[in-house]
Formats: sequence, structure tokens, C-alpha cells
Amino acid sequence: MGAADKLIWTPTKSGDYSTKSGYYSAVEMDRSLNPINPAHAFNWIKNVWATKTAPKIQVFLWKVMQGALPLGATLQRRGLLASSVVCTRCGEEETAAHLFLHCQFTRRVWETLPLSEPIDPSRFDSFSMEISSTPGISCLPPSGVTIDLFPWLCWCLWTARNSRIFENVNLSAIEIGSKAVRLAREWQIAQPLKPEHRALQPISRRSATNNVDMVICHSDASWSSHTKAAGCGWWFSDTAGTKLGQGSSTEQHVSSPLMAEAIAVREALLHAKTLQFAKICLKSDNQVLINALSSKIHPVEIYGLNLDIEALSATFSFLHFSFIPRRLNSVADLIAKFATCNTYSVLPL
Ligand SMILES: [Zn+2]
Repeated sequence: MGAADKLIWTPTKSGDYSTKSGYYSAVEMDRSLNPINPAHAFNWIKNVWATKTAPKIQVFLWKVMQGALPLGATLQRRGLLASSVVCTRCGEEETAAHLFLHCQFTRRVWETLPLSEPIDPSRFDSFSMEISSTPGISCLPPSGVTIDLFPWLCWCLWTARNSRIFENVNLSAIEIGSKAVRLAREWQIAQPLKPEHRALQPISRRSATNNVDMVICHSDASWSSHTKAAGCGWWFSDTAGTKLGQGSSTEQHVSSPLMAEAIAVREALLHAKTLQFAKICLKSDNQVLINALSSKIHPVEIYGLNLDIEALSATFSFLHFSFIPRRLNSVADLIAKFATCNTYSVLPL
């Protein structure tokens, strides 16, 4: 129908690029190139993104795991600050495992925590080993903290380390430990008790102010996964239900049922145009197609077809797409099924 071409990003349904899909594509590419990278075995969703903690802390954990936090060892690896890359408390190499688990000062901070059972942080060889361990570190009831305290503890150790280096503010072990408990409790209290379930908004139905000359078009398609052939069927009526005409077509090389349904709509509209109908209410039992046509957000699979339909829409004075249940679309279904074994045939009125 002469609709404009468009660049399509295939990893998303809409065909539009998103940072998220780009990120996953890059990760997948890296996974296939470096299958033995241990980072690929790490469960990012479970251990980072689904952690019950504030989003900023999730990003912080992700940075630690990716080696993106500017710790001494990281800075040295990047060729920066060769003279001052060690732990300011004990002089050892500053890695994530050292700052959050192994430093003597850190172990004193751990000792101040109201843990339900004492934990020696040096038993974890690495940072990833700690956050992969379930269920994390839990506190005794009076603290009011029921979530894993470890992410908050790391956050407080990190901010205390920065205050010490950049602001010359020295927090004691007990101050850091109680700050972690307080922040975890505050965040926990601020969370809604139950997740909100938002009801799906019904698709707004445009009503024609004037129903005179309105033509109802029912369309349907049948599709064979074996032959990749589709039969399309449609029929027209006035608002009283009097039949005004019908048509059908057979299509080859159709890749999916959704595509078959979209072709049926396009053919039905082309037929409606030749019959000089101006106001159409088109009904289909394919919810995905109707949603796409109503929202103008088209799945990649039928992008071209839907743009054809959009271009055709402009030639009618009124066109509305609506969904009907399959059981109310049996006539169009029969025409489509009959068309599957026939060649193209638009029947005259
Ligand atoms: Zn240290």
C-alpha cells in the first residue's frame, strides 16, 4: 500500500530499540563468545535484581559484582592512583571481598550487628559467594529488620569508607552497624504491605455519533501450520444485521495465525472500499491484532500489514476496530475455512 519503510530492532516485540533489550543482546553475544566466563553462571536476577532492597542498593550490588565500584584494586587495574590504592584502615589491597568481608575493621562492624546467629564474614571467600548464599544475613526480632541486612551493610561500609577518605569523617564500627540496621528498617517500613494489582484498563471504545450508513464488518482467518496457507473471510452487514456482502481470499506463504488475521482485515477493508462503504466498524476475534490496530503499536511480525491497514483507514470517514469473542464470529470463520481450499474470490453483492 506504499507505507514507509522502517528500521526494526528484532529483539523487541514493538520493533523499537530499548536499552534493556540491547543490554540482554550484548550479554547473550558475550555468553556465546565466552561461555566459560564465571559471571555467566551468576544468577543476576535472584542475587541482585530481585533482592528485597532499595533500587539504588541493587544498582550498587550490581556495580560491585561487575567490578565497577572504584575500589583501590579497581583503580590500580585501571592505572590510577598507584600510590594510594590500599585499605585506609589496615593497608591491605582494597578489593570488594576485603572491604565488605575480610578487613579486620569490617569484622568488628559485623560483630556489632544484632544477628540471629553469629557469622564470621571471613568464611566467605568472595563477595559473590556471600550474596549467592541464601537466605542472607538475618537480624534478631527487636531490630525490626526481616530482610537481608547484607546489602545495607555493604552500602554503609562503602559510604563510611568514602566519608573517611574524602571528608575526613571517621565513623566507628558500632555507628556503621547501627546505621545499616536503621536504613534497612526504614526502607522495610516504607514498603506497601501488599503489591498493588492494577486492573487492566478496558480499551476505550469510540462510539460513532451517527450510526446511519454504518457498516459492520466481521473478519476471520484460518491458517495451516503445515502448508503456511491462510484462508481469509469477511462479511458486511448494516447495524440491523442485514447482510450487505461477503468476500474471501486465499493467501500463500503466511507465517503465523496473527499474520493471517491481519491479511483478512486488510482484504476486507480493500473490499469495503470497492463497495464504497464510508463508515466501518470492523470486528475480529484476534485480541492481539485489535489491540495493535487500536493502539497503533504494531508487533514486528505484522508491522507492514498494519501500516497498510492504517493507510487504508485514512480513506474511510469512520473506522473503528473492535474485538468480538470467537463464538460470535462463526460466519466469518466459516467463510475463511471455506476459502482455505479455494482461490482468490471476492464475491459480488
Ligand atoms: Zn582493611
